[in-house]
Amino acid sequence: MTVTLPDAGSAAFQTLDAAALLAALPDPVAHLGADGQVTLNRAAQARVAQYSATGDWMALFQASSVPAIRDAVQAALRGETRQVTVQVVDTVAPGLLTVAPSAGGALLHLHVARDPLEVALELMDGLGLGMTVQAPDTRILLANDAAARILGLSRDQLMGRDSMDPEWRAVHPDGTDFPGETHPSVQALRTLQVQREVPMGVYHPQAQDWRWLQVTAIPRRAPGATQPKQVTTVFADVTEKQAMQTEMRRRERRYRSLVRATSQIVWDAFPDGDFQPPQAEWEAFTGQTPAQYRGVGWLDAVHPDDRAHTIAEWQRAVRDGDLYSTEHRLRRADGQYVPMQVRAVPVTDERGQLVEWVGTHSDLSAIREAEQALRALNAELEGRVQQRTEDLARVTRFSTLLLTAAGEGIFGLDARGVTTFANPAAARTLGYSIERMIGQPQHDLVHHHHEDGRPYSLAECPIHQTLRDGQTRRVERDVMWHAQGHAVPVAYVVTPTHDEHGQPSGAVVMVQDITERIRAQEQLQELIEDLERSNQDLEQFAYVASHDLQEPLRTVGSYTELLARRYQGQLDPRADQYLHFMQDAVDRMRSLIQDLLGFARLSRADLTLTPVALDTLLRGVQQNVRGTLDADGSSLTWDTPDQVMGQASLLTQLLTNLVSNGLKFHRPGEAAHVQVTSRREGDMIHVQVRDNGIGIAPEYHARIFEIFQRLHRRETYAGNGMGLAICRKITEHHGGRIWLDSTPDQGSTFHLTLPAVPS
Ligand code: ADP
Repeated sequence: MTVTLPDAGSAAFQTLDAAALLAALPDPVAHLGADGQVTLNRAAQARVAQYSATGDWMALFQASSVPAIRDAVQAALRGETRQVTVQVVDTVAPGLLTVAPSAGGALLHLHVARDPLEVALELMDGLGLGMTVQAPDTRILLANDAAARILGLSRDQLMGRDSMDPEWRAVHPDGTDFPGETHPSVQALRTLQVQREVPMGVYHPQAQDWRWLQVTAIPRRAPGATQPKQVTTVFADVTEKQAMQTEMRRRERRYRSLVRATSQIVWDAFPDGDFQPPQAEWEAFTGQTPAQYRGVGWLDAVHPDDRAHTIAEWQRAVRDGDLYSTEHRLRRADGQYVPMQVRAVPVTDERGQLVEWVGTHSDLSAIREAEQALRALNAELEGRVQQRTEDLARVTRFSTLLLTAAGEGIFGLDARGVTTFANPAAARTLGYSIERMIGQPQHDLVHHHHEDGRPYSLAECPIHQTLRDGQTRRVERDVMWHAQGHAVPVAYVVTPTHDEHGQPSGAVVMVQDITERIRAQEQLQELIEDLERSNQDLEQFAYVASHDLQEPLRTVGSYTELLARRYQGQLDPRADQYLHFMQDAVDRMRSLIQDLLGFARLSRADLTLTPVALDTLLRGVQQNVRGTLDADGSSLTWDTPDQVMGQASLLTQLLTNLVSNGLKFHRPGEAAHVQVTSRREGDMIHVQVRDNGIGIAPEYHARIFEIFQRLHRRETYAGNGMGLAICRKITEHHGGRIWLDSTPDQGSTFHLTLPAVPS
């Protein structure tokens, strides 16, 4: 439509500053100068820039409108003003273009009335809602950006598309197909009814996933027309909301099954705390009827003793809208009370308003039983632990006592040789405090050097060898170093210790200070050496003396004999007697010296031991004492089946001495009977020489074995007191022993042991 307007030029307009007006005008305005130059106002520049990079004004119009605009411009150049209805590129509604002559050129003013639909499209965009306008044949005429985004298609792809297009892939929430002819937009067109919030899933080609939409379709009719003109469809993307709801439903299901699995009863109550039917599980458990449990009737099923605290807690929870948690015994339908844990939570709506209470009762009897069993077990365990602790304490006390009381030093080492304990004796021996020793490497502290001052390496230390190989060691002589720097001679035993798995864990060392023992040994040794020396001197003296005495005695003897032979009977009788005394004395002196010489020689003689039969020896003895035997009716008998190791000549002398003593010291007027017996005792032969003589008082039993010891005057019993001394020497030379037992006036038994012939 083209309208030709009357010239509006008036005096008033002539005075206005048109340039300012044009610049401020929100409508696009262009001026075509006489020289063909086009000038655009600000609104026009902004609009044109969207469609033409070069700023071509004509780009604003659809091609169909171009001829009419050209005509109008021509008219303006001729001085006519015209209004042309034009189709602008970006709007549905037509625009009104006024073209007026201006300064030899033309002024073009575009006014576009905005279609309400466009406004709506924009508005929906702003709300993030998709919106389309569809023609009666369901082709899409318009779509906003939100629609394009939600559906995953560009606006161009959407334009002209048909709801029936088989490329749409739509589904119902249950996953079944949503055919095009049933889409809300199609329905709305057909029924002229608004289709509200229809849930629909559409496949999003970019996301390659389903989008959930809530679609509302509104049919538009031209006033009075029966056929719909268009349909407007608005839809929201509820995918996230949908996912959230699905998740919430899943969680709720899970939560419910969880609650059911762990509780006996699930119940609900009004916000004010009133119990309202139906409570199916409560009824089933307690056997109460709705009339009985309604309100606070449920309290009747609670054990009388538990009612007070239950109701107090319930009232508190309801008042504070806070967690309700208690325990009580609940009566089962069969009358039995069951211990229950009770919990209820207040459920609120999205505004935070309390809408109901949901509570649970959980059976505690299994837990109670388990608790009881656990308590019993605990008590038993505690008892055992106590018992064990007491045992341990006893053992510990005992071992502590032992350690403390022990005279020997005891200390414990760990596997590295560090002292872990020490008893007072150990500390005393080495001059350290117990505290000082514990935690110290024992070797470095007290065992670092040998007695001669050489460093003591760990490799040669017996204690460390035991720590390494777990073998017990005994060391008879070593030194440990006293805190004051001197060496303490010690003997010690190292015993390995083991842990509970049998692995070597250290050692216990028992140390003995052998200072005293060594001193005593040294003294003994000195004494023995002294004794041996003096014995040797004595023997030397006895030998020399007796040997040298023999010579003058021989002279005295010879001259006495000479004197006797020549003057016997020629002098007075007293002189004869004196001569006799002299001869007697010389004889005794000779025998004494010979005995003494024999005795002295004995100790220097080397023994050659051979097996000798005692019987053989005694036959020789019998021979030796035959004179005595024949003289006074005394007797010698023997029962000696054994053989001994010895030197026959000495043993004959020994036995002769004993037998002749037995014969000699007989009781006056009574014949002597001497009996010799023998028996084997281990490695030795025990020989006994028994007589029926005068006996020997106990106090002399030791003395008579010393030289020159006699108990009688020579006039009563002859002898020089050397016999038994020689007997002892011979016996001891053979490695045997001699002793006696005797009862005075009843007889004596001399015992001696001699080595048996090794079997
Ligand atoms: P002696 O030459 O005096 O016999 P001995 O050394 O043989 O010397 O004996 C020492 C002393 O022991 C004897 O003088 C005697 O008093 C006592 N004696 C030894 N044998 C007997 C015996 N069988 N019965 C009693 N007394 C004895």
